[in-house]
Amino acid sequence: MSFTSLALDPTLIKAIKESGYQEPTPIQRDAIPAILAKHDIMAGAQTGTGKTAAFALPILQQLLSNTDNKSVRALILTPTRELAQQVFKSIETYGQYTPVQTALAYGGVSINPQIAALKAGVDILVATPGRLLDHLINESLSLEHLEYLVFDEADRMLDMGFKDEINNILKRIPTKPQTLLFSATFDDAIFKLSKTLLNEPKLIEVSERNTAAAQVEQIVYTVDADRKRELTSFLIGSKNWRQVLIFTRTKQGADALAKEMCKDGLKTQSIHGDKSQGARDKALSEFKEGKTRVLVATDVAARGIDILDLQYVINYELPYIAEDYIHRIGRTGRAGKEGLAISLMSPDEEWLLTAVEEVLDTRLLQQWLPGYEPDLTKKTKPTKRSNSGANKKRARQQALGQERNKSKNSNQRRRR
Ligand code: AMP
Repeated sequence: MSFTSLALDPTLIKAIKESGYQEPTPIQRDAIPAILAKHDIMAGAQTGTGKTAAFALPILQQLLSNTDNKSVRALILTPTRELAQQVFKSIETYGQYTPVQTALAYGGVSINPQIAALKAGVDILVATPGRLLDHLINESLSLEHLEYLVFDEADRMLDMGFKDEINNILKRIPTKPQTLLFSATFDDAIFKLSKTLLNEPKLIEVSERNTAAAQVEQIVYTVDADRKRELTSFLIGSKNWRQVLIFTRTKQGADALAKEMCKDGLKTQSIHGDKSQGARDKALSEFKEGKTRVLVATDVAARGIDILDLQYVINYELPYIAEDYIHRIGRTGRAGKEGLAISLMSPDEEWLLTAVEEVLDTRLLQQWLPGYEPDLTKKTKPTKRSNSGANKKRARQQALGQERNKSKNSNQRRRR
């Protein structure tokens, strides 16, 4: 199937061709006709599947018939600033030969240029929930002409505690927009949200729900916690990996590891929610340009980041929220390319691996790397608690609570 057979406007086809896309990805093949046929959709697709073009192209196409540039007619909500920037850039690329105007609104930066951009006239707005609400409350934005509403990475938006913001935003939308919900994972909360949002949605699933990208090889190394850093540097150095994204659970952990890796002679930076937007942007672009070899990130900061040709992801610590594992390893193996995801599991983290395996519905092979075998004579305390279902649920709630507080704090910071 070609893009031409999707009946897209020649201006869009030209931009797609220049981006080097030969044919639609599965999500694009399924979602574009459904969106053009005016269906609400609920799509299960991870970042890396081409989902941005899957919603951006049909929205651009439909806005083309009448670009008034006076009111926001399409709103795309993303959980993080990084994802908002990325989606904005993609829409600018796909729509470069059209008169459609796109703007970006996220927190952590001055609101005034955003107000000026909105005043100048915008068709599509890409925004994070907190800052969008600021604009609605300030009346620098009205959604009275909204025709398209997209929730990108809806699962993450809920995980980050944006439910109240979402409800508040929905109350301020007087129209009944065509609504498109994209989520990498599905659980009861997503289904509940979809019920309030979507009208007879078409369900589009390109990969099995809650599965990791098939082209990502997954390896689990069992290693003592106090030897993880050494093993990480060894892997990167001995295998000469050029670009490696490492995940830690905490901001402090990310900073400390980045510092240690630098001491090991590996140019490393960290990104997390406590860093200024400028610092996060800089770290990310230096990583993309190859100026830094290793980027250490927390789950929130790394969400949705699109790094072209990223081959290696290391889970320095397994996530407390098992679904995050899928998001983490989804940073590699994108758009059909191969990737390798290595998890470093200390013996006290085994219950977290069990939770990941439950979500994946598959067993992951545990291995020891010669020279880094765990010392089984050492007594290990479980990371948090034992491996019972109730305890795992509590850990998840606790982790979510921490994320929620973080995002609320960052909203408060943004408002100041
Ligand atoms: P996304 O899932 O939207 O973040 O896209 C992941 C990556 O796939 C991005 O680098 C896109 O530029 C790329 N991409 C999207 N659609 C296609 C396509 N049809 N052919 C090749 N690459 C694509």
